[in-house]
Amino acid sequence: MKQYTHAWLAFKAIERLEKTVLTTENRKYADSLITWFKTNRDGVIKGAWYPDLVIKDMANSHVLKFIPADQGSNEFSNLPSNYRIYEAGKQSPLYKHFYSVDRHDNLPERCEALAHSVIDNLKMQESEEKGSPLSPTDNHVATILFMLSHYVADAHVPFHCDGRSFSSGCNLHGHVEGEWDDEIRKYYGIDSQTGRFYYNPEGYPLLTADNNYSSSFLKLVDDALDNREFKITWGNNNTNVHDFMYAICQFSYLLSYRFVPAGYDETNVTLNNWQNLPGQSPAFGDLSVMVFTDAIDSIARVWLRTWRRYVKWTQ
Ligand SMILES: [Zn+2]
Repeated sequence: MKQYTHAWLAFKAIERLEKTVLTTENRKYADSLITWFKTNRDGVIKGAWYPDLVIKDMANSHVLKFIPADQGSNEFSNLPSNYRIYEAGKQSPLYKHFYSVDRHDNLPERCEALAHSVIDNLKMQESEEKGSPLSPTDNHVATILFMLSHYVADAHVPFHCDGRSFSSGCNLHGHVEGEWDDEIRKYYGIDSQTGRFYYNPEGYPLLTADNNYSSSFLKLVDDALDNREFKITWGNNNTNVHDFMYAICQFSYLLSYRFVPAGYDETNVTLNNWQNLPGQSPAFGDLSVMVFTDAIDSIARVWLRTWRRYVKWTQ
């Protein structure tokens, strides 16, 4: 995903935590995270861009690539039951079929490590005297949280989990991500001096061009979130950030093969036929809603549970 998509999804995740219904206990954790974020968001939203602009570990850490195989594993993990990619992936002809995974890729491990790092830094901050050179700043911790949201979001991009090479040929991967970023920049105001979103009174990105917003897939993402329960679970049998992200990558792979059916790859998908491939389902608009809706809930879930682990440690 590109710059503004990452930033927008991160803000939407916080908004999701603010607006959704949670248990009394989880509401307490969510509110402390939201308050903390709103104080720390300005200087650090670029944390969401760091993995692409500074760290540049795209080849192996922003991806987990699966390819269909004749043997190996055919096990698929679970996701929260109301996930759109879960529902769609289970209808893929490749569901429960053998696959292999590129052993160089490590997106789920990257997410698990960053979640630990957030908690470690918060614990150090809590333990050190004020002014100690060992004490991490709030900005530092917030930057890591935004970096974490980047990798979580990337896992939802079908092409990041598909062993076919969609960055070559017509670069369908880049083209799709460009369409998404353009859509956000079309409707949300960005300050050209700072490169940041303008904020609405609630502190979220400001819709500046709202004529026609109702025809945008972004409005369908808002509606989808308004109409679905926020589930705190990682999905049955998943016990941590790693397991959850691994499951997301599996269903992104399945979704990729529904959008670009078997038999198509970088050699025969073009900028003319990519939205009309025989057997393609979902269509691009619906795929975009699935990817964005689930990505927002995933960032919200990973952040809230990471924050909750730290707060529980302090009690
Ligand atoms: Zn990335």
